[in-house]
Amino acid sequence: MVLDKLGDSLKKSLEKITNSGYIDEKTVNELVKDIQRALLQADVNVKLVFSIGKRIKDRALKEKPPIKIGKRDFLINIVYEELVSLVGKGVSKIDVSSKESKPFIIMLVGLFGNGKTTTSGKLANYFKKRGQKVALISTDTWRPAAFEQLKQLGSQIKVPVFGKPELGDPTKIFLEFEDELKKFDIVIVDTAGRDALNDELIDELNRINSVIKADETLLVLNADIGQSAEKQARTFHDTCDVTGVVMTKLDGTARGGGALVACTVTGTPIKFIGVGEKIDALETFRPEGFIGRLLGMGDLESLLEKVQDALDEEETKDLGKKFLKGEFNLIDLYTQMQGLKKMGSLSSLVNMIPGLGGAKIPKDMLQGQEEKMDSWKYLMNSMTREELENPDIIRGARLDRIASGSGRSISDLRSLLKQYKQGKKMMKMMKGSTGSEKDMQKLMQKVQSGKLRLK
Ligand code: GDP
Ligand code: MG
Repeated sequence: MVLDKLGDSLKKSLEKITNSGYIDEKTVNELVKDIQRALLQADVNVKLVFSIGKRIKDRALKEKPPIKIGKRDFLINIVYEELVSLVGKGVSKIDVSSKESKPFIIMLVGLFGNGKTTTSGKLANYFKKRGQKVALISTDTWRPAAFEQLKQLGSQIKVPVFGKPELGDPTKIFLEFEDELKKFDIVIVDTAGRDALNDELIDELNRINSVIKADETLLVLNADIGQSAEKQARTFHDTCDVTGVVMTKLDGTARGGGALVACTVTGTPIKFIGVGEKIDALETFRPEGFIGRLLGMGDLESLLEKVQDALDEEETKDLGKKFLKGEFNLIDLYTQMQGLKKMGSLSSLVNMIPGLGGAKIPKDMLQGQEEKMDSWKYLMNSMTREELENPDIIRGARLDRIASGSGRSISDLRSLLKQYKQGKKMMKMMKGSTGSEKDMQKLMQKVQSGKLRLK
């Protein structure tokens, strides 16, 4: 596992929270301290550690958890979100389909021993597995065995490897094979490194790039270098148009956390991570998945889902407000129904509509409703957007078309339209009332007792 130690200590800090009885400022402070300690041990920059701690604290004390979510789960979610933002934002993909002409060229740059050649092989394997026709080419004229090393990797995965070190010049090597390379979807160029980023290397890379015109230039960085990843990422980025980073050797290094974070702050996205010496030890870098795994996903995944669902529910609550404002159409009803599927019951929605929360709606009324909704879903799927937005136009031939398209009867459709009209009417009445929660509760009581009839 990547960054085992950091993962373990973060997990432990969260476990403490899970086991503590009550979440107050003191518990939050302790959690923040634990997390900060864990991050510092993983070599994350002190300033960043400080600021992430402050953000977690601020959010934990200020933000209100959505209904249904306890403080504890909400706090864990905040920690997760903040850790994710520390290592990036979403997945930065290499979109090979973005280029019309072949081949899509990926050039790997970096200093000696960071893993360029190994990563070239891994990337070739990665794209080959995804159905692309891949070729490798070595422009390394510095290391005597560089071409051999790449050839060996290529033969492992049956990917052709081009190279001719005796030409002594990277651009000449590329031009020698340029025509042949056009037969491939993706060409991966393994370049030569140096001990340090000096003018000579920059000059060489710029010359290569003006000939090769790579579509992606990936900087290969060894996670062992810890926080100095920032400086390297920045210099490479500023001097040779790096489009992304591959962070290697994230397996078994204590400094990996520092490198990941340091690199992220340069604004150069980490696109892949190397997690071993084998050809398949390469992963797309997904900040969310990465942090999730670090924190020991499993339970966490379901927890995060729960929080997400609850946040979705809050959105549904907004829909309730919309309903009360009189802006409710069939599309809203449909969205609401989709949300309902997730939440499980109409009763819970009713509870969320402001003012209806306290009103007890007869259970059987709600149950019948939920069954009908399934059939309505099919009906609505057969409607045009116009019909959904303005159901009043559904008459005559439209009725037949929708019913037969959905495999439901016309009477099912009429029942949906009737329900919609009733809802709309009720909504108007609610709007007509002063709109206070109390009034609405009264109104609902009337509906229940049958004193108020909706036609
Ligand atoms: P280059 O000089 O940049 O081309 O680096 P190489 O590809 O030759 O790699 C240098 C060493 O790092 C080799 O021994 C590789 O096996 C090793 N290496 C590369 N990537 C990884 C990785 O993700 N994990 C581990 N453990 N070793 C790696
Ligand atoms: Mg090499």
